[in-house]
Amino acid sequence: VKIFIQNIAQLVAVPPGPVCGAGLSSPPIVENAALLIEDGRIAWFGPADQAPTGPFDRRIDAGGGTVVPGLVDCHTHVVFAGSREDEFEQRIRGASYIEILEAGGGILNSVRALRSARIDDLVAESRPRLERMLASGTTTIEAKSGYGLTPEDEIKTLRAIRRLDAETPVELVPTFLGAHTIPPEYAGRADAFLDTITDEAVLRTIRDEGLAEFADVFCERGAFSLGQSRRFLTACGEFGLTPKIHSEQITFTGGTKLAVELGAASADHLECIDDETIATLSDSETIPVVLPGCSFFLGSPPAPARRLIDAGLPVALATDVNPGSCTIESLPLIMSIAATLLKMTPLECLVACTANAAAAIRRADRIGAIAVGHQADLLILDISNVNRWAYQVGVNPIAKVIKRGEVVLQR
Ligand SMILES: [Zn+2]
Repeated sequence: VKIFIQNIAQLVAVPPGPVCGAGLSSPPIVENAALLIEDGRIAWFGPADQAPTGPFDRRIDAGGGTVVPGLVDCHTHVVFAGSREDEFEQRIRGASYIEILEAGGGILNSVRALRSARIDDLVAESRPRLERMLASGTTTIEAKSGYGLTPEDEIKTLRAIRRLDAETPVELVPTFLGAHTIPPEYAGRADAFLDTITDEAVLRTIRDEGLAEFADVFCERGAFSLGQSRRFLTACGEFGLTPKIHSEQITFTGGTKLAVELGAASADHLECIDDETIATLSDSETIPVVLPGCSFFLGSPPAPARRLIDAGLPVALATDVNPGSCTIESLPLIMSIAATLLKMTPLECLVACTANAAAAIRRADRIGAIAVGHQADLLILDISNVNRWAYQVGVNPIAKVIKRGEVVLQR
């Protein structure tokens, strides 16, 4: 099937990730462009006056708009139960994240809600979030478990993620975040908890059912130490899961260096990263993932994205959507926040949410770019200039969302 997209004012030809330096700050832009999709893949793109002549099975008129790759959200906790607006208010009134956690609230509220939810409830509760994310341009979403914290509830969450992948147009990438926090029944006994969650029968089920591609750990004071993080990721690695780490978020723990040592796909958060660790990342394939929505939501200092980019690193951005520390589902809103708070240019934000985000979930050879042979995950935006997207904070310019060559959403 050949689908020809014509009348494109600007086509942002984001190259396959990871992208750093000049490719990150100024990806090629084709003015007055056209694009040909063949059997779900990008077959040609370029100036309209050089476009192949038909016949085509279908034509799509971009209406003088802009075409960019579908957005990739490479770090989310989007499958959860319940909500925590009470705590949001407590924090506004002055309580800290740690104080709320120590009083038995915070993430433990989400753990209780998830454990009592049936898989059908979990799927039904999460589906509208995915639909809203698709409507704001996100075509691929990494989704973590981590609110179950028992073997059964973690596997239940991963099965819910798989069902959502099958039942919605969004592509979901599953991550086993069995070491998200220490559940109350194991308070003070993190190692005993890790014994249960890395039990061979659990990891074998995850592997044999293909329930996760990545393993992730919250390496932080009060959560898992560097040694425990290494132990968890190594155990998961023996069953084929690629490591990822939540590192240097609230305090500096050295988790990012562990990520590099273990060949992790990404090191995420990095609010407290230092220059020596930035240099370590430069010598690695580990993608730094920055989550400014979290800083916005918590009112805390953001990661030094500008320093990471200026050091030549292929920075990725993600929402970190979750019920506690960031409820933002929209990557375009994250782009606006990254522009104002982190001093990333609108084009850097776009590349960070496409090519580099795809690299953070090891899919850069298939998604996140406009390149011949890449999957046709595309957005048609009702703006004639791509820079207007991040600038028009909170305004949604999406006219069409195309996933695997099919129009899955029209506005
Ligand atoms: Zn997270």
